[in-house]
Amino acid sequence: MVVKSTARRRKIAPGVPPPAGDDVAGLIARAQTFSPAPANPDLLAAMAGIAAGVCVYTATGVVTLANRRFLEAFGLTDDLVIQGATWPEMMADLPVTNTGLALEALTRLTCPGRTEQTLADGRTLCITRSPVEGGGWVDTVGDITDERSTLAAAAYRARHDALTGLPNRTVLMERMQEALRLAQRGELSAALCLDLDRFKAVNDRLGHAIGDKVLEAVGERLRNQLRGTDTAARLGGDEFAMIQGRIRSPREAQTIAQRIVADLSRPYQIGAHEIRIGASVGIEMIDGSELNPANILRNADLALYRAKSAGGGDVTFYEPAMQMRLDERHRLEAQLREAIRDDSLILHYQPQVDLRSGQILGFEALVRWQHPTRGLLEPVEFIHVAEEIGVIRQLGVRVLDLACLEAAGWSRPVSVSVNMSSSQFADDGIVYDVASALQRSGLTPARLILEVTESILTSNSPAALALLGRLKALGVRISLDNLGVGPSFVSYAPRDVFDIVKIDQSILAMSSGKPGGMDLIEAYAAFCQTLGMSPTIGGVESLAQLARLEPGGCEVGQGFAFARPVPANDVHQLLDSATRL
Ligand code: C2E
Ligand code: MG
Repeated sequence: MVVKSTARRRKIAPGVPPPAGDDVAGLIARAQTFSPAPANPDLLAAMAGIAAGVCVYTATGVVTLANRRFLEAFGLTDDLVIQGATWPEMMADLPVTNTGLALEALTRLTCPGRTEQTLADGRTLCITRSPVEGGGWVDTVGDITDERSTLAAAAYRARHDALTGLPNRTVLMERMQEALRLAQRGELSAALCLDLDRFKAVNDRLGHAIGDKVLEAVGERLRNQLRGTDTAARLGGDEFAMIQGRIRSPREAQTIAQRIVADLSRPYQIGAHEIRIGASVGIEMIDGSELNPANILRNADLALYRAKSAGGGDVTFYEPAMQMRLDERHRLEAQLREAIRDDSLILHYQPQVDLRSGQILGFEALVRWQHPTRGLLEPVEFIHVAEEIGVIRQLGVRVLDLACLEAAGWSRPVSVSVNMSSSQFADDGIVYDVASALQRSGLTPARLILEVTESILTSNSPAALALLGRLKALGVRISLDNLGVGPSFVSYAPRDVFDIVKIDQSILAMSSGKPGGMDLIEAYAAFCQTLGMSPTIGGVESLAQLARLEPGGCEVGQGFAFARPVPANDVHQLLDSATRL
């Protein structure tokens, strides 16, 4: 029965004492507790003081006691407390959206029981029903909105990438499991690993804040490319992955991947910067032949590695031969670590010649690896591997030590130039390494030239320049190698950092044989001289090239025209021979 009688309805204003002799005796309005029937004042006071909403019922569901917090929890007014009524009866005629929801929560509650209910205004309430002695029950209600939203946010964070909002690896692996189940039923899917080309340069040149904006934009473009059955995830850095569900054929997977690559390669406008990057994709089909999600991802990643090493911007499918190549690479890595430890690295030396007198002014030390089965390997085969697996510092220390020791034993005090990788400038260990090599060998510091490339100026310039300064303070000279390869940053460096600049051999190769071709070399030489650096020309392969070089331009030359790199033992012969190169 719905009790609607206004005669039975009591409106209680908080703080106003109830009229004397009222049938709602025991009501302590000041304590903000509402009781349609006489009740123990201590109990009422206690109920008013607790933080939760509380409502006490008789065995027949009639309300005997409720505190204000209980009413407030559901957004109800205090004129609701009606003697002899149940909550459904009291709330039945209230046009409040929350009331319906609250009522629903209360009616479906068992005793004992607990329910959570999110109301129309967004709050989430937790209602607990417990039996009371002698029949009846008590409902306790608490507002757990904050707790729930914190939990929901934590649950969201555990499954999504914070920067792009895309799902993370956990979700991807779940989707992969799902795709595997579907593959058992004959449904084809594809796993894609995706990596951005040239993204590192964006971070290095424009900073991480801009890099992050680019990643956000990439996430957005990926999201827009998704079909209903696809999942895209960010795995970290500039690595993304994707599951294409319900694919008809590998061809279709490839077409979609190519569309994504084209879309991600469109320029990005971030503030004032127009940024151009690319993307490469590796694909492994999920066709039931491979059952392990981790293997599928690894295969797609191997295909990606292949796509990237082919220059990027490519879509490549996994092939079993890639695994063989990877095994080979792992073998090479292990052998290289061993070679650095066991002194299987040796140095060849190529003379650097005074172009006017033909005198040998010094030698460039060029590392070689006496490989156990493949013979003498050139640096192109292993320097990048040493950089990638983080042993370049150890390799660099070996080369420095050996070059200084061997040069200290030469019959004439000519210079020795040692190539340095940019990654050797990641910390100030390089200063210690150079100082130790000089000390161990007893080589005069002025005879040591360190050849660095311009890439050390693009990443972390101030720190690299500071290190170069400390190295120069040891008395060694610094040569800027490979000028003309890539964009030039040398003019941004302080004037006294580089003593020597080596114009890259590609410039000479490009200029040779063209009318006015040597003008470019002369321009580079003049540019270096203006900045107070002595220009050397690399890659002089023929006397004809040499003859065309203007006197007064490059002072020093290096190349096959003078001598190819020779083993350490032959240096003595070159130095001792009276012949000028
Ligand atoms: P780089 O510093 O530009 O060294 C010159 C390279 O050009 C050497 O190749 C040399 O053999 C070659 N070369 C010299 N004259 C001519 C010429 O007239 N024509 C042609 N076509 N080539 C010529 P190499 O020895 O294979 O070294 C390649 C690169 O490996 C070096 O280029 C250097 O960047 C790097 N490298 C060599 N040794 C080391 C090292 O100990 N540490 C590090 N980090 N890198 C090294
Ligand atoms: Mg060099």
